[in-house]
Amino acid sequence: IQNDKDSQYIISNWAKDHYHKLLTETDEGQSIGLSYLRQRGLNQQTIKTFELGYSLDQWDDLLKSAEKAGFERKYLEKTGLAIERKDDQGKDTGRRYDRFRGRVMFPIHNISGRVIGFGARTLKANDKSAKYLNSPESDIYHKSDVLYGLYQARQAIRNEEVCYLVEGYLDVLSLHQGDIRNVVASSGTSLTESQIRLIGRYTDNVTVLYDGDAAGIRASLRGIDLILEGGLNVRVVLFPDGDDPDSYIRKVGDQRFKEYLENNSQDFISFKTNLVAKEAAHDPVKKAEAIRDVLQSIAKVPDPIKRQVFLQQTSGTFGIDEQVLITEYNKLVKNAS
Ligand code: ATP
Ligand code: MN
Ligand code: MN
Ligand code: MN
Repeated sequence: IQNDKDSQYIISNWAKDHYHKLLTETDEGQSIGLSYLRQRGLNQQTIKTFELGYSLDQWDDLLKSAEKAGFERKYLEKTGLAIERKDDQGKDTGRRYDRFRGRVMFPIHNISGRVIGFGARTLKANDKSAKYLNSPESDIYHKSDVLYGLYQARQAIRNEEVCYLVEGYLDVLSLHQGDIRNVVASSGTSLTESQIRLIGRYTDNVTVLYDGDAAGIRASLRGIDLILEGGLNVRVVLFPDGDDPDSYIRKVGDQRFKEYLENNSQDFISFKTNLVAKEAAHDPVKKAEAIRDVLQSIAKVPDPIKRQVFLQQTSGTFGIDEQVLITEYNKLVKNAS
């Protein structure tokens, strides 16, 4: 089994090198892949640091090249780089094709820097298949245990004492290039407990920078509770609707982006309060709902002293007597258990 896993690491690393060479050294890679990455504003250094690549728009380039390099086909299958071709009855035909074709390739590293899987973005404007594809689960790739960019970010997270959490690959790359290196993405999955534990090895502080759309806000709310449950501190930065960290830093530049982060980072209580503030101000029912919602989040915090501080803050923010709030809180906790 150990040998088997080693072979999967080795072939993943080889595939990463192969895709990178295709990107930088072939005509197709340069004219399609590289020019796309350039157009997205990424420079050579970023492409190198993250070992980005390109998969040729062919059915079996990787299969053939792997065979030539002397790899057993089964490892391409085990890492999901090759897919079995099924017949009409759904039976394996014994034939294989490459999973990733004509896409920009984002190698996913574990914290020791080994390649364990790939994300891949289509370059076609209206691709019928998904905009992003990911490697499937394998013996070496468990997507819920991985954060994209953590390998490149870990030292900066320690130094800055905060981890920025974004949605996508391009968000990680653009921020890193803008000298904000303490940034990771939960790419290809919604945030998990084990990803939060992973961040917790480096810092207690997470700032969520999700896309400024309804989906991003929903994901932020869910993320907040998970992060609190994991015992970490959480703040949120909301971007203008339609922007994500990548588009926004490209729009306003590195310096103004950093200022935006500083001026717009909110603790989770303010974030939740502000979300409903406009309606809630004149609507006691909505306001009560908002307060209960904040109380639910506070209930997730493992540390009783922090809970106490948050309850005080909530009392101040909403102008609700602290004793009333605590009574309500105790009721909520009791009903939940
Ligand atoms: P773009 O390259 O267009 O800027 P993005 O990085 O902003 O894309 P979003 O559509 O905001 O992408 O999605 C955020 C992240 O979610 C992506 O980077 C990718 O990791 C993941 N994702 C998006 N669409 C899919 C999909 N169809 N399948 C799997 N993962 C996806
Ligand atoms: Mn989005
Ligand atoms: Mn996005
Ligand atoms: Mn984007």
